[in-house]
Amino acid sequence: MPNIPYGRQHISEDDIKAVTEVLKSDFLTQGPAVPAFEKAVAHHCQAEHAVAVNSATSALHLACLALGVSKGDRVWTTPITFVATANCVRYCGADVDFIDIEPNTFNISAGQLETKLKQAKIENRLPKAVIVVHMCGQPCEMAGINALSNQYGFHVIEDASHAIGSEYQGLPTGNCRYSDITVFSFHPVKIITTGEGGVATTNNPELAARMRLLRSHGVTRDPAEMQGEPTGGWYYEQIELGFNYRMTDIQAALGSSQLKQLSGFIHKRHTIAEQYTELLKGLPVELPWTHPDTYSSFHLYVIRLKTDKIKNPHPTVFQNLRDNGIGVNLHYMPVYLQPYYRNLGFAEGYCPQAEQYSATAISLPMYPDLDAVSQQHVADALHKAID
Ligand SMILES: *Cc1c(COP(=O)(O)O)cnc(C)c1O
Repeated sequence: MPNIPYGRQHISEDDIKAVTEVLKSDFLTQGPAVPAFEKAVAHHCQAEHAVAVNSATSALHLACLALGVSKGDRVWTTPITFVATANCVRYCGADVDFIDIEPNTFNISAGQLETKLKQAKIENRLPKAVIVVHMCGQPCEMAGINALSNQYGFHVIEDASHAIGSEYQGLPTGNCRYSDITVFSFHPVKIITTGEGGVATTNNPELAARMRLLRSHGVTRDPAEMQGEPTGGWYYEQIELGFNYRMTDIQAALGSSQLKQLSGFIHKRHTIAEQYTELLKGLPVELPWTHPDTYSSFHLYVIRLKTDKIKNPHPTVFQNLRDNGIGVNLHYMPVYLQPYYRNLGFAEGYCPQAEQYSATAISLPMYPDLDAVSQQHVADALHKAID
């Protein structure tokens, strides 16, 4: 029986060479590879600044802190995301709320967002920030969300953990044209990897400086930021309570090498998506839909079962695929139905589209090295699981 995961990394000989070079060099961390990677990511994204950290979760936390999110604030996000998107708000002591999704893109609904903003304005409960997630690698309707952020005065963070290499209106995700900060993840299942790692991009130099300060204990070596006079070469000051969220040079070297392969990876993902369209024709499932403003990175290939036309219920189809060696997954259960968020007062029925999505969605295997034989196996198994 095959064992086909839903996602996995591609590591080239050049990647191995890049990591080996760092291992033989003077600096395993806090050396030259991290700034070089930051520069490469900023260049790719057409952003002014990139701040590398040890995970996207850390980047999300720093993004919230840099924007001043704190106790008493409200931050809104989508329920169809990984828990980290909401948790970063809780790390800051602020309250999270959820906006339902658009059923054809699985992204936050700009229409629902506007409705909730109108009501929140009347009640004087507007959010400090909204975190949008480019689900599966397809960018959200950023122009509309940006217009709302100007009208209602909230910050925008893009959780682009799925979406490096994607484009919105012909420009690369991460350029922050319509947001304050964009966050990427480099976990091995994502588009490019550093093992663990993340980056935050921004065009705002103050936000970049705050994130840099907080990723390394709140310690500065810049005399301009100090309260006292440097008393010698050893002198530094801790001016805020920060963290150790640093990326290592080992990771950054891998990241720079992976970034060079990004367009090749995205191209392969698109070829695989086209092949799925061909193989799944005629099945009672909805295939991914792409908004004309977007070019997806195809981090995930999510199908939705037309459950009224299929005898087997969703969990049975899912298990059937798993039993056939196919590592299908569900991205995601609505975050607010996790026990931690239920304990904060959320319950079933809060975001009907998100719940309907979770009851029908299946992520099929999608990664650059997925070969034609494996893809055929996935399609055959799906045909059988549905009939
Ligand atoms: C993977 C992921 C994260 C967390 O990324 P890490 O780098 O593992 O911390 C956050 N948000 C989304 C949408 C993700 O898919």
